[in-house]
Amino acid sequence: MWGLYAIAGIVGIFIGSFLNVVIYRGPSLWALIDDDRGNLARPRSYCPECGKQLSPIELIPIISYFLQKGACRACGATIPRRYPIVEFLGAGIALLCAWRFGMSVEAVLGMLFGWTLIVLAFIDSETGFLPDALTLPLAVGGIAFNTVDLIVPWPYAILGCALGYYVFWGISKLYVMVRGHEGLGLGDAKLLSAIGAWVGWMYLPLVVFVGALTTLAFTIAKAGGIKNVSTTTATPFGPGLALGGFIALIMTTYSVY
Ligand SMILES: [Zn+2]
Repeated sequence: MWGLYAIAGIVGIFIGSFLNVVIYRGPSLWALIDDDRGNLARPRSYCPECGKQLSPIELIPIISYFLQKGACRACGATIPRRYPIVEFLGAGIALLCAWRFGMSVEAVLGMLFGWTLIVLAFIDSETGFLPDALTLPLAVGGIAFNTVDLIVPWPYAILGCALGYYVFWGISKLYVMVRGHEGLGLGDAKLLSAIGAWVGWMYLPLVVFVGALTTLAFTIAKAGGIKNVSTTTATPFGPGLALGGFIALIMTTYSVY
């Protein structure tokens, strides 16, 4: 069992390193931002400040960040803390899935689900977008794997996928009616729909609850106290939903028939 955890942790850290590449280059690849950062394979990883390509040692996850004291060796530019954080999260996802599902197909699928959620959360907090290029395959994947009841019975998955979208769509319409402006994007609806496809409709209230609490906490922290929060401060909802989705996955206790 410890061998399984060790492998999961190490693989998770290296996957986390790749997730950082997707988080950085995805938004330019999917034309969400106007900035050419290359595709997922090319060019080799470089410092965005001075353009220097990273040496093999500088590519070692986590360790290199601390060896370099969080700065580029060539130009001294600060490396965002996101890099080691995502690498730790990549490992955390892998360990939790290994713990929850053991050595199984479910564990591997759960990791893919969690890693995709990490990418979505960080892209949303950087750009305010949840790319269809990730939410739609995530939804299709959830439905596909659950047709054989892998994580939840398939009727729950189908209902979760549909309800996730329409409930959020409804909330966003209500928000416009009350506030008079858009506050929630349909990217959030697609993400909740994808999460519903993985964890089933019964967990949607939990996901939305965790999402709302997390978003509220972020908003207050960003404003520097509850008194400074203004109604126009927009905090992306994606990171909260992603956290809720992963918690729901770890909690799923459907006994299949
Ligand atoms: Zn540099």
